[in-house]
Formats: sequence, structure tokens, C-alpha cells
Amino acid sequence: MTLLLDVQGLGKRFGGVVAARDVSFTLSPGEMLAIIGPNGAGKSTTFNMVGGQLRPDTGRVLLGGQDVTGRPPREVWRLGVGRTFQVAQTFLSMTVAENVGMALISHHRRTRDPWSRAGELYREDALTLLSRVGMADAAERPMSELSYGDVKRVELAIALAADPRLLLMDEPTAGMAPRERSALMTLTAAIARSQGIGVLFTEHDMDAVFAHADRILVLVRGEIIARGTPAEVRADPEVKRVYLGAHGAEIAARARA
Ligand code: ADP
Ligand code: MG
Repeated sequence: MTLLLDVQGLGKRFGGVVAARDVSFTLSPGEMLAIIGPNGAGKSTTFNMVGGQLRPDTGRVLLGGQDVTGRPPREVWRLGVGRTFQVAQTFLSMTVAENVGMALISHHRRTRDPWSRAGELYREDALTLLSRVGMADAAERPMSELSYGDVKRVELAIALAADPRLLLMDEPTAGMAPRERSALMTLTAAIARSQGIGVLFTEHDMDAVFAHADRILVLVRGEIIARGTPAEVRADPEVKRVYLGAHGAEIAARARA
């Protein structure tokens, strides 16, 4: 089977800082792959090289076997790579359904006036996506009224509107309450698995990582120091020493659990 994502030897420097060095990994359809590591480890850099926001100095990114290295984000997005958006990228004055409708229009590259008829064209599809993320009841509410956790769910629906093969989620639950976090990751994992979407995510919340990742990459100072299933990563002596040590007793306790 062709790999969904095949990242080979990515490297990136910012002046004297090596943000990524020889980063290689693969991702299969329906798989949840987490990248963890201390602040400044190079997680976002790796993300941005996959999504096209940053051009790598070395290495290649293959998407379904196609070399997309250095392609601009818009092009990578068209090839089926979704990102969860930031709150600022939703239209607060528009309703939830209209926001998802806009994403659908954008995906289908319609040029109609989005505030009038085109919104209606995609209404049904928007509602389908909203029910998939458990937000159908909020379809008519303005975005501005939603709780932060609900905005994140709508953002997931917006990312799904582009029918992605791969979802990139850089700290998707940042700023969320623990319960909301867990719910969002559970939802993401269920959608990924049922639709065969590969998910690459980075996440501070170790509970979310260990509960939802199929595999974990541990990045320290731009290099992958360990990889494997959650159980393998927990047990890895190098991880305990370098990364978990830096993050204190909380994670070490979890490693013993
Ligand atoms: P993480 O997401 O794991 O916290 P980053 O990928 O954001 O780490 O950063 C990795 C390293 O690269 C850090 O030392 C950071 O300061 C540096 N860095 C990231 N982006 C830039 C940039 N645009 N310019 C200069 N240095 C950067
Ligand atoms: Mg980051």
C-alpha cells in the first residue's frame, strides 16, 4: 500500500539554530501520529515543512507517493492536506453553518457571492459535516456565541470540508479545558479512523497523546530520539532521561502506570 505520508530526512536551520535534523517518518491512512517534545524541539517547524509553510533545507515530503517538497501551502491543501484553522480564520458574525459552507465553497472553488446563494448550495453538506462533529444543533448560531471548545469542533468541520487525506493539527487543544480537550481528540480519532484520514498532531497534553496516538515520535532539539507505540515510548529509557525528565514527575508517574 502506498504510504499516505512519507517524510524523508527533513532538515531546517534558522541561523545558528538547527530546528530540524534528519526528521523521517511515515503515516498511513486512518493513523493518529503524535509528535511530542519540549518547547522549541522543532515540532511546529516539522509541521510547517509538511504543510508547505516552510521550505525544508534538506529532505523530501511525499504525499501518496507524490513529491510535494517546498510546494506552497495552498497547493499542498489542494492535494488533500487539511489544517485546523485558528479562531481568527472563522467569520465571527456569520453562523456556524455559513462558516462551514464557506469552507465547502472554497474547496469547490466556487466564485459566487458567498453571503447569498452559494451558502444555500452547500447547506446540506455543511449540516452533514456539523453533525459529524456533534455541532448540528448549533448550525444557526453565530460563531461569536460559541464556547471555545465548540469553536474548535467547528474548525474541525471546516478542515474536513476540504475532504482531506491528511490532517495537520498543531496543538489543536491549546487553551481548552481538560474535558473539552479529551472530547475533541476522541472525536478526531474516531473521524480519522472511520474515514481513513491520517492525522499528524502535536500536543502538550500527554494524557491526550497517550490516549489517542497510534504511534508517537519524540523530538528533542530537532532530532527524533525515540518512536513507537505509546507503550514503547513510555518505556524508552532515552525518553525518560531527556524528555520526560525535563517535564517532571507528572509524566514519569504516567510512564509507571
Ligand atoms: P516547537 O514547535 O517544538 O516548540 P519550533 O519548531 O517552533 O518548536 O521551533 C524550533 C526551533 O526553531 C526553536 O529554537 C525556535 O526558536 C526556532 N525557530 C522556529 N521558527 C523560527 C523562525 N521563523 N525564525 C527563527 N527561528 C525559528
Ligand atoms: Mg510549536
